[in-house]
Amino acid sequence: MRIGVLTSGGDAPGMNATIRAVVRAAIASNDKIFGIFDGYRGLVEGKFQEFSRKDVSEILNKGGTILGTARLPEFKYETVRQLAVKQLQKNDIEALICIGGDGTYTGALRLHEMGIKTIGIPGTIDNDIASTDLTIGFSTALNTACEAIDKLRDTSSSHQRCSIIEVMGRYCGDLALYSGICCGAEYIITNDTGFDKQKLLEDLKQNRLAGRRHAIVVISEHLTDVYQLAKEVEQYSGYECRATILGYVQRGGAPTPEDRLLAARLGKYSVDLLHEGITGVCVGIRKNQVCYTPIEEALAMKRKPNEELFKLVQKIS
Ligand code: ADP
Repeated sequence: MRIGVLTSGGDAPGMNATIRAVVRAAIASNDKIFGIFDGYRGLVEGKFQEFSRKDVSEILNKGGTILGTARLPEFKYETVRQLAVKQLQKNDIEALICIGGDGTYTGALRLHEMGIKTIGIPGTIDNDIASTDLTIGFSTALNTACEAIDKLRDTSSSHQRCSIIEVMGRYCGDLALYSGICCGAEYIITNDTGFDKQKLLEDLKQNRLAGRRHAIVVISEHLTDVYQLAKEVEQYSGYECRATILGYVQRGGAPTPEDRLLAARLGKYSVDLLHEGITGVCVGIRKNQVCYTPIEEALAMKRKPNEELFKLVQKIS
């Protein structure tokens, strides 16, 4: 086969490990494998390069993506996608492996409908894809968030402060949920827990009165203005309070062993599926087994938080 591989949407640690796994699996199956630069934009522009094993050496432990990623909102137009299909036909490429989040999956589904054999691999730090228990990049982002929260805890405790830490995950609270549990946060606030500000303020006041030296609040991005919330906590609870937005550091760094392992498994599995003639699907991991789901079905699935973990932390709702 002649297969293309691209990374698209927000970058995530482990994308390089995934590219490496796809390239090596394809070459081992006597396929020709082409790296496509800058996501769907590069696909439309014909930025293709045939890859050898050497082209993907020394990238396993590197963050980011050697293929680059870009956003091309115009890809939703069929006329633009036709340009992509033409580029693939010109290079005789029949199949495409797309690494990214649900936007990337939608692009892959539309291409599948136009006759291209596509497979989606979940590469996103948010863990927001319902068809898999874990996405590539989540473990590394969780690690980064935990390191930061641990450090903020040290200084919070010394200064008897409340620390509010905003982590990524706009539509999926997993980064806040998992990092909050791992770091012993007093409060975890996500889309799923809901946010009752008055209850939080009151609880913190009671904490303070009970003599607790510090408090950690972990909150998902975009739920509230955390700097304003810190001011209100100071006024109401008596704690000195600082807000920290972790931001884009969560996207970088060397992938954890968990992300590398997931990348290796899903990269190889994607190539195997293409050889079995299974396409228009996205791969994932459920109960520690690799699995695949039709992309259309995956996009319609609603992500729910892990119920058992969620029950651990229902303090503010
Ligand atoms: P992610 O894959 O991380 O969710 P985006 O939502 O930015 O990131 O999507 C990545 C790219 O996927 C977009 O820039 C666009 O090229 C493509 N894409 C997103 N939505 C669609 C759509 N409805 N139809 C076709 N392509 C899409």
